[in-house]
Parts: sequence; C-alpha cells; structure tokens
Amino acid sequence: MKLAILTSGGDSAGMNAVVRAVVKAGIIKGCETWVVREGYEGLVRGNTEAVAEQSLDETPIDLPDTSSTTDGSTNLVQNLRFGDGDLLRDGTGDHPGTRSLKGRYIVRVGFDDVKGWFAEGGTLIGTARSKTFRTMEGRLQAAYNMIKEGIDALVVCGGDGSLTGADVFRAEWPKLVEALHAEGILFSRISAEKVALHAHLKIVGLVGSIDNDMSMTDLTIGAPTALHRICEAIDNINSTASSHSRAFVLEVMGRHCGWLALLAGVSGGADFIFIPESPPTTESWEDEMCQCIQRHREVGKRKTIVIVAEGAIDCNLKPIKSEYVKDVLAERLGLDTRVTTLGHTQRGGRPCAYDRILPTLQGMEAVEALLEATPDSPSYMIGVQENKITRVPLMEAVKMTRSVSAAIEAKDFEKAMSYRDPEFKE
Ligand code: ADP
Repeated sequence: MKLAILTSGGDSAGMNAVVRAVVKAGIIKGCETWVVREGYEGLVRGNTEAVAEQSLDETPIDLPDTSSTTDGSTNLVQNLRFGDGDLLRDGTGDHPGTRSLKGRYIVRVGFDDVKGWFAEGGTLIGTARSKTFRTMEGRLQAAYNMIKEGIDALVVCGGDGSLTGADVFRAEWPKLVEALHAEGILFSRISAEKVALHAHLKIVGLVGSIDNDMSMTDLTIGAPTALHRICEAIDNINSTASSHSRAFVLEVMGRHCGWLALLAGVSGGADFIFIPESPPTTESWEDEMCQCIQRHREVGKRKTIVIVAEGAIDCNLKPIKSEYVKDVLAERLGLDTRVTTLGHTQRGGRPCAYDRILPTLQGMEAVEALLEATPDSPSYMIGVQENKITRVPLMEAVKMTRSVSAAIEAKDFEKAMSYRDPEFKE
C-alpha cells in the first residue's frame, strides 16, 4: 500500500505527532509513505514535473547515503530533512543535505524525516483551506496527482470540514477515475497496472481540532494542549488580578463548543463561565452573574475571573460579548475590569504529553484501518472512548457533529449534549 497523509483546516498541536506515527507505522507495516503539503491544496497542485526536475538539479551534493535509510527504500526524495525545520517552505533547497520542495506538494518520506516530530507545535507539512478542492475539477486534479504517484490510501487529519472533504473524495473516486479515463489522461500518461490499482480509494480520518467539538469521540487531537495554554494564561492573570483586586473577562476559543471554556474555568478557578451548550436561562443573567461574583468577593476573593467561550450565547441565542460582560462588572459592581482575548496563543506551542500519546496511538490505528479496508467498508474516523482507541464511521461522526450546532440553534440544548455523547444512538 502507498499511503499519504495530509493535515487540513485549522492547525492543532499534535498534528506532527500524527504524521510521525502514520509514517513510522506505515513503513513498519511495509507501506510506502508520503506526505502532502498544505492540505488538500497540495493534493490539487501535486508535483510539477518541470520544477521538480529543476529542483533536483539544484540539490547540494552532500546528500546522505540512501542505502542507510531505516526503511531500506531507494527513493531519493526521502532525503528531504523535514525534521531540520526549514524545509517546508517553497525554498531554494540551500539547506545542507536537502532538496528543494518548490513545485512539489506530494513528497515521499522515510523514517528519519519525521524524527522528533512528536514535540513540534503546529503542522510542519502545512495546512490550508482549499477552495479548489471543493470543486469537482479540483478533486479530479487531486485524483490524477495521487494516481500518478501510485498512492491508493489517504490519511486526513483535520476538523469536520476536512473529514467531509475526505468522504466526498472517496465517494466520488470511481467517477473521478472514470472521467480521467474518458479524457484519455490515465492510459496516455500512467500505466494500466497503476490505474487498475486505483479502483478504490482508502481513507481514514483523524480529528485534529483544539475545540474538542467532534461527536463520537471523547477527545480531539490538540484540545488538551490548548486547554493547557489557557490554564497557563489564567495562572498568569490570577496573580496580577489578585494583586490589584481586579476582574478579568477572558475570551477563549472553541467555536460552538464550550469544552475549552468549561474545563479552563474549572482548572483556573473561574467565578463564572459562559458556554454555548448551557446559556443563561433568563434574560436577567447579568443579575445572576453579579450576585455570584458579589458573593465570592464577600467571602474574601480578591480577584474575579469570568470566562466567555467564543460561541457563548444568551437565552435568545444572541452572542455574549466580552466587552459587554466587562461593562456590566464595572458598572454594577464597580470592579476594575479588563478583557483578555487569548487568541492564537491557544493554538500554538509544544504539544503536551497527551497530545503526543493520543496522536501516536490513533496514527497507528489509522494505518491498521487502512490495511484492513475493503471496498465495502465505511471510511473510519479514529476516535477515543473511555481511554480506548476506536474506529467509528466517519460520516456518522461528522453528521452528528453538525446536528449539535443545529440543535443549539433550535434551542434544544439537551439534544445538543446528547449528540456529543459517544454512546448516543438516534
Ligand atoms: P476544518 O477541517 O477545520 O473543519 P474547513 O471546514 O475549513 O476546516 O475544511 C478544510 C478544507 O476541507 C476546506 O478548505 C476544503 O478544502 C475541504 N472541504 C471541506 N468541506 C468540503 C466539502 N464538502 N467538499 C470538499 N471539500 C471540502
């Protein structure tokens, strides 16, 4: 099996650990392993032959000896030293012992290319939002590029959008191959044997998302690290807030999901938390909040922390804005109040231990799932439930995730929460 992995949509800590696990497990299981740079956009762009040849000419001479590579492959492309850090830009290949990646988005990699990736933040192979992949023409080009390289299995690590894209691609695959056939593209440029290998595309999804907003799994890759970042920020704010007896309103990410806000609030000692799944039940939530904070002050608290999730709403489904909460605290309680929006600090930085463990275990499971895939089996999403790595039908998980947002919009919060429950059955 020739498998490729891409990271797509919003980045999250742990994505590099996924790539590392998939590449290493793939090689150990006898697969040829590739990475696709810049998400689906890289799949559409593929490898420009002319540029690729030119970049090979630019290669410095002191390439490492390929015969000593761990996976025994002779493909020179694996000498790309991804692990050295600055290779993934469209550079000129002037890093010692490296090749230029200019014009090459689908790149064969070996064991050593992903050495130490578990500890790197973000995604070293890049991520992007690709408009072209949303079109049939784009996906046709992507299919061509994959078949050209002989790739028949794809691991996608991203959010629900990316996993939907993967499913669309797989469902459409026979049609795409047929269309390439009809245009005479396949047999004129690619051998019949290679084409025959590609009647079906095998895909598997891994959820990389700081929001922890995917149904049918307990945790998504990157969420624990983002939570950790928020906790650190609250610790820092707590000390200054306490010194000056101030109030802070912290806005945290999470889109329609309050997981980050809720757990950060619990672990950081917040006084009041606003999350989308459990909006205030009355129109006078300001009174409720002020009474609660007043009580905390009366029992001796010198600081006040209010956490507002990005998607927080009131009982009329109107967004709750941090600035408004600040004004309420200042005007009604006379507190010296500041707003801190943590923004992208929540996304960045080194993955915490669990964001190395989870992607490693899930990456290995993803390779197993691909090796066992049949044309009739559904595409799987790798999840985790009660500490066990699981396989769940990818589209079911995506559908249920979308149902959460729909239920919130319909003010059916109980239903929204039940859709997040891994045990939920319709
Ligand atoms: P996330 O994966 O974080 O939810 P997006 O929703 O932006 O992020 O999706 C990432 C990418 O996945 C999009 O830029 C697009 O290329 C691809 N994608 C999303 N939905 C579809 C779809 N219905 N069909 C094809 N591609 C899609």
